[in-house]
Amino acid sequence: MEERFQGSFTQQEPLPDASIAAAVAVMRHGRLHRYNTAGAEVAEAALLEQDFAAQSGARYCLAVASGGYALGCALRACGVGPGDTVLTNAFTLAPVPGAIAGVGAVPVYVGVTRDLVIDLDDLAAKLPQARVLLLSHMRGHLCDMRALMDLCDAAGVTVIEDCAHTMGAAWDGVPSGRWGRIGCFSTQTYKHINAGEGGLLITDDAEVAARAILLSGSYMLYDSHIAAPPPEAFADLRYQVPNISGRMDNLRAAILRPQLADLPRQAMRWNALYDAVVAGLAGINGIYLPHRPAAESYVASSFQFLLPGWDADAVRGVVARCAARGVVLKWFGAPDPAGFTSRYDHWRYAASEPLPDSDRVLAGLLDMRLPLTLSVDDCALIARIIRSEVERDAA
Ligand SMILES: *Cc1c(COP(=O)(O)O)cnc(C)c1O
Repeated sequence: MEERFQGSFTQQEPLPDASIAAAVAVMRHGRLHRYNTAGAEVAEAALLEQDFAAQSGARYCLAVASGGYALGCALRACGVGPGDTVLTNAFTLAPVPGAIAGVGAVPVYVGVTRDLVIDLDDLAAKLPQARVLLLSHMRGHLCDMRALMDLCDAAGVTVIEDCAHTMGAAWDGVPSGRWGRIGCFSTQTYKHINAGEGGLLITDDAEVAARAILLSGSYMLYDSHIAAPPPEAFADLRYQVPNISGRMDNLRAAILRPQLADLPRQAMRWNALYDAVVAGLAGINGIYLPHRPAAESYVASSFQFLLPGWDADAVRGVVARCAARGVVLKWFGAPDPAGFTSRYDHWRYAASEPLPDSDRVLAGLLDMRLPLTLSVDDCALIARIIRSEVERDAA
C-alpha cells in the first residue's frame, strides 16, 4: 500500500482563547472603529501598534486594512506616483506588482536566484532605473540585507520591505522590516498572525509615518495614536495628504495582540516542521533545496524545492502523483496563474522584460505551505511521498 497524506495544507489553527476573549470584549462594548473610544480608553488598534513597534524595534507603527494596503500606502508615503518606475522582485505575489500599479507606477522586475532571493547583480544593473525598491521577502527567504542596503544606499534608492512572509524573521539579528525605510506586514489568514485580513507598517521616519497615518484615514484624530510621531509632524502634512481610507478596526487588533506575543514560540514550531521536511528530502538526486545562510533567522511557514533542469512534463508528473497521494504542491512554472501562484510574465497590466535565468529557476520551483495544524510526523510523511515520486522520475 502506498502511503497517503490525509491532512490539509490550508487549515490554520483555531485562534487562541486570549484572542477570542479580547474579541468578545470589543464586540460587547461595540466600539469597533479605532477612533471610537470612551473617555481615557486606548483603542486596541493603537495598542497593537505600540506592541508591534516595541517588538520590532521601530519608532512608529500603523495598523491598516491589509498587507497590500500597507504596500500602496508605503509607496505613496515615499512620494511614488503615476509614471514613476519601481524596482521589485520578479518572484513575488500578485499584491506586490498590484500595489505598484495601484499608484500608477510601473514595476521593473529584478531576477531571482536559485536560493529564491533577489539577484543582487541584476539589482545593481537596474538601480539607475528607479528611486524606490519594493523588496519582497517572498516565501520568507531573506537576501544578504547588508549587501543589498549598501547597493541601494550608494545609488540613493529607497527600500520598502514587503515582509508578508517574514514577520518574526531577521538577517544578522536585525528584524526583517527594519532594514529599509519602511517595513510592510500582512495579518491575513495565511501569514504569521491571523486576523482574516489586516496589515502593519513600521518606520523610523517621522514624515513617512505621519503621511501614512493621514493616508490611512485618520481624519484629524492622529492624537489618539501611541506609536506615532508628535503632532508637529502633522502640522503641514494634514493639508497636503489625501485620505485613502484603509484603517484597521479594534476587533482585528484585539485578535492579533495575543498572537503577536506568541509569535516567537510559533516560529519555533514552524521551523520544526520545516526541518522535518528538509531532513526527509536530504540526498535525493535531481532536487535542489534553497540554501539558508547562517545570518538568516527565518520563520518557515512554507517550504520550497527545485527540480532544476527538469522538463515541464516531468514536473507536472511529480505534481500530479504527489496530489494523488494528498500532497498539494504549487508550481511556479505553470503557463497560467493558478490560485495564489503566478509569475511576473502573467501580470500583463505591468509589462516585463524577459528574465531567462529567473525563468529557469521558476520552471522547476515547487512550493507548499506548512500550517501549524501539521505535525512533525505529518511532515516526515509528506517528505517520504515527495521523495518517492521524485525518485521515480530521477531513476
Ligand atoms: C499576502 C502577501 C501580500 C499582501 O497581503 P494581503 O494582506 O493579502 O494584502 C504581499 N506580499 C506577499 C509576498 C504576500 O504573500
